[in-house]
Amino acid sequence: MNSTNTSPCGLSGKSKQEIEQFVTGLCLPSYRARQIHSWIYARNAASFDEMTDLGKETRQLLKERAQIPLLKLAHLQVSADGTRKYLFELPDGQSVESVLMSFDDRTSFTACVSSQVGCAVGCTFCATGYLGFKRNLAAAEIVDQVMSIQRESGKRVANVVYMGQGEPLLNVEEVIKSIAVLGQSVGIGARHITVSTSGIVPGIRRLAQERLQVTLALSLHAPESKSRQEIVPTTSRFPVDELMQALADYYSCCQRRLTIEYVLLAGITDSPDQARQLAQLVRNLHCNINLIPYNPTENRDGIAAYARPSLSAQQRFKRLAESSGKTVTIRLERGTDIDAACGQLHNRFEDEGKTSAAPRELDGQARAGSQGRAGYKDVTAGGAQERPAVKPKRPRARRS
Ligand code: SF4
Repeated sequence: MNSTNTSPCGLSGKSKQEIEQFVTGLCLPSYRARQIHSWIYARNAASFDEMTDLGKETRQLLKERAQIPLLKLAHLQVSADGTRKYLFELPDGQSVESVLMSFDDRTSFTACVSSQVGCAVGCTFCATGYLGFKRNLAAAEIVDQVMSIQRESGKRVANVVYMGQGEPLLNVEEVIKSIAVLGQSVGIGARHITVSTSGIVPGIRRLAQERLQVTLALSLHAPESKSRQEIVPTTSRFPVDELMQALADYYSCCQRRLTIEYVLLAGITDSPDQARQLAQLVRNLHCNINLIPYNPTENRDGIAAYARPSLSAQQRFKRLAESSGKTVTIRLERGTDIDAACGQLHNRFEDEGKTSAAPRELDGQARAGSQGRAGYKDVTAGGAQERPAVKPKRPRARRS
């Protein structure tokens, strides 16, 4: 870190060593780094003014040369089930989404973080895929999503899932760095972290080299390469058999049970034959299967290309997949009354030209990338307001 660089250095999200380097660069005693680190990570400080044991002059110097937090809250939606969906503005004006969820145990909170702005993979059912790839996030930008969530919500995050915008294993080095900071500084150990990939084989192998105790989740979505290629374009580079081998090797290396994520798209990935093929495919893999009933998303042309299978079709698929002997669950949905699927909130703001704007109210009628909802709360820096119910739109086209 260069002390002559005049642009403010974002400190939240940085590792202890990086904060030490910064402090040394300012010719401050090294114990200042410990104090700053503790204010950021143990006490969730959101400004240098809160760091009352630093001395006025030191705080002034820090205000001139550094900044916390790194991310700015651009928008927040709160679901009726308590799920909080954030749009964070990055230092360069780009934005990413993060989500805070709790499940049956209300005292345990899970943060879903983004690893890239946009995504190059282009899964055909994903709102982020419509956005295209913009850039990788730095490790600090990933970590500060968790810290910003804790600061805003007052909740302690216990688990982190890398399932927001972006393909984590196409940004694998920064993801590995961020996992280290989450463990060392935020206190979230690798066993409480899940990294989800669309199946980037070199990234799986690189992550395995670290021998971290994170859970690796593969977004499989189809049991063979031909139909998978239709919805996950990278299958042409990494066919299903190669993915399965990479997962088996990952297990041998890390001894961590894997998760197979499988999105149920009506008429596309939910047939009984596909359920049997899936059961066969994972029979020898140490894994659980997580079925995800599709959350309909409109693309930029206002087209919802896929539909969610009926409850009976979901249950039938689950029963057949269970013949693998694996635990099969249907994902508990959170935040369905807000833009909870990855990329939806970002796309809505981008379409409205608001990604770099200060938090503000949305026009209740402008809903690109979102779905019908039964009234939700848009919460901005200025407070919370009930939003009117919006009549669900019917899909204008359907892929068959
Ligand atoms: S599902 Fe994940 S990998 Fe696929 S386009 Fe969306 S963000 Fe990228």
